[in-house]
Parts: sequence; C-alpha cells; structure tokens
Amino acid sequence: MIIKYTNFSDGLHEFKLSESSKKLGLEDLFFGDIEVDCKMDKSPHQIVLDCSLTASTKYDCDRCAKETIKMVSNNFLLSFMFTKEKQESDNFNFKMLSPEEDKIDLSADAYEYAELALPMKKLCNEECKGLCPKCGRNLNEKFCNCDLTIENDIWAPLKSLKDKFNN
Ligand SMILES: [Zn+2]
Ligand SMILES: [Zn+2]
Repeated sequence: MIIKYTNFSDGLHEFKLSESSKKLGLEDLFFGDIEVDCKMDKSPHQIVLDCSLTASTKYDCDRCAKETIKMVSNNFLLSFMFTKEKQESDNFNFKMLSPEEDKIDLSADAYEYAELALPMKKLCNEECKGLCPKCGRNLNEKFCNCDLTIENDIWAPLKSLKDKFNN
C-alpha cells in the first residue's frame, strides 16, 4: 500500500488503495482485499491523510460456532511532516518524511487499523442464543426441552454431600 507522493501536486486528492489481506499478513482474520479510501491534503510542509478502511472478516461465532462473514471499517488520520534530515517519530499517527524519501507505505497502518476494527465479541448476530450446553442444539434454529436449571446449580455437589451425611 504505497503512495508515491512526489507524483501529487499540492492540494487535495482522493484515491483508493487496496492490498490483499494475505499480503498484509492478515489472512487469519480477513479475506479478500483490504481497501483504504484516502483523502490527501498535500502542502509544502506536510501531508495529511484522512483514511477510511474497509475489510471483510470471517470468523466462527463465539456462542454458536457458525461461520460468519462481516464487513468492518475504521477511520484514521495520519500526518507526515517534511523534514530536512532523516528523523524518527515514535508517534504512530505523526511521522517524518526526509528529502530522500518519495513514498509513504500504509501497510503497517492498514494492518493495525484492520485489527482494531474487529469486534471484541465475535458473534454471528448480537442476539445469538448460542448452543444448548446439554444437547448441543443451535438455539437460534430451534429451542430444545433440556432442563438447564439443575446443570447450572453450583450448590448441587454440596447438597448431595449434605444428603449423604443426613442419611
Ligand atoms: Zn452465533
Ligand atoms: Zn438442549
């Protein structure tokens, strides 16, 4: 994901970048291309990039294990300052460009912001009912008649122990 900024005049530019998720090292969580819509504001002193990333993710639902495909997106702003000498910046969103450079590589940024776009809870649907812990049926499709109240009774072993002593 390279922007050869020396090809652009000062002013506003809009363009789209894309790279395969595999090439970016994101193939475990994503498939297809990672796309970034860029708005670039180039001036004699700096470049500001307003980026909007979209990607397709595939995962198994945390509750029911159903394979799920979702589009995720993320926005990020990057600024680059032209400097006379080579300088390092430890700020992820603010970087330096020395005179011997002529391009910006957005691969690391795309990687980072794609990962951040993933949901914390990976569900097929916010209302996913999951699987019955007793019979394994997918409760989104059909309810089962399992009685789960006993299964969930954390005091059951204690009660049975008490019963034994009382007999
Ligand atoms: Zn689910
Ligand atoms: Zn069941």
